[in-house]
Amino acid sequence: MRIGEKFCPGVMHAVEAKDGLLLRIRVPGGLMSASQLEVVASLSHLFGDGNVEITSRANLQLRAVRAEDLLTIQHTLASAGLFPSPQHDRIRNIVTSPLAGLDLKELLDTRPLVRELDRRLQAETLFTELHPKFSFGLHGDHQRFTHEPDDLSLEACKNGSLMRLAIAGVNTDCCVLTETAVDCLVEGSRRLIELGKSAEVPIRAKRIITIPEAFNRLIGSLSSMLVPCSAAARQPDFVEVSQGVFPASQSGLVNIIPSIPLGRVSSQQASAIAEVVKQWNGDLRLAPWRGVVLGAMPVKSQKEIAEVLQSVGLLWNGQDGFHGITACAGSSGCDASLADVRADASLLAQRLASKLAPARWTVNFSGCDKQCARRHGASAELIASDSGYLLKINGEDIKQNCSAEAAIEAVAKFHTLRVSEVATV
Ligand code: SF4
Repeated sequence: MRIGEKFCPGVMHAVEAKDGLLLRIRVPGGLMSASQLEVVASLSHLFGDGNVEITSRANLQLRAVRAEDLLTIQHTLASAGLFPSPQHDRIRNIVTSPLAGLDLKELLDTRPLVRELDRRLQAETLFTELHPKFSFGLHGDHQRFTHEPDDLSLEACKNGSLMRLAIAGVNTDCCVLTETAVDCLVEGSRRLIELGKSAEVPIRAKRIITIPEAFNRLIGSLSSMLVPCSAAARQPDFVEVSQGVFPASQSGLVNIIPSIPLGRVSSQQASAIAEVVKQWNGDLRLAPWRGVVLGAMPVKSQKEIAEVLQSVGLLWNGQDGFHGITACAGSSGCDASLADVRADASLLAQRLASKLAPARWTVNFSGCDKQCARRHGASAELIASDSGYLLKINGEDIKQNCSAEAAIEAVAKFHTLRVSEVATV
């Protein structure tokens, strides 16, 4: 095991943070079983800070872990199927819809492709050379739940029989048959590794395609799989997912999306989610909005499910004010933090509680200008400095050296303005 590398934690690569070691657990596609979540909840309770964090690539994190507990944690995760290959610990970012197989609108259920891609990546040590942030996307339609582009992605088109290739988030004119989708991603990443190594740049598509001829060579290496496609490329639809209960593609079943304030649940809450999913034979997903989906839950049991989740403080009525707000680890978890951003984010949520959130409402709280919590296109951003917050609204600097109270007040006013604009349209 390695300790101390300062970026991209894993289970083998514990990173030293202010509150102890930080571990990231791979969950490709956000697909995990309720039993696996129970295991992580229990590890957090026994060896961490009692919380489980969900990342923006739908992986999990444990915080405040001690070095002497690492081996036990690794063995426990391995037994639960959450640490299948130490070498591929950080080759984990496969992004797909957290509603795959549960969504009335999708053209293709991408879950078999996610599993097959993960299996193929783990079968070769070559792929450990991908950058830990390298991300694959397998999209069953044009909906997206995060603005972060993937290095290599395929999106279903033509009733799901074809998939269109995008590189570094940019659509190409190239499609593959869905049955060769995984081959395409495996071969594409193989070629990107080759190109990146020879140019001595990190293995990220956005870097590599700036190398002269790299794009053509990448496409050339995939040419035997490419097929003509008459469907026009279209920009993704960025879907804002609210909390609530939504119809599932299966009759009599619904998808329940609770509020997960600032992407963190207590081990007790994680256990309750796992218990509910198990009891009602549901389908658990982690979501890139740093949340969870309790998929395929019986409509007729909604009341009982709500009672169990409410008993541990998990709600989905949209009234807690946290909708759209995110924050980095802040002063309790990161030495670099210049403000208690999670507490300030909670104060803002208190101000907004019971109010309707305007469309596309997003607020980022960052403890320093590295902006780990940043999401592009945010309504408001609060970036801590040693003399107060820099407040940005719609990407523009509004005020520097702002106290937390003043920044929160300004954002709350902006929220009211946005709500009233919608109301008067
Ligand atoms: S934004 Fe700064 S303070 Fe927050 S987690 Fe990242 S490095 Fe730490």
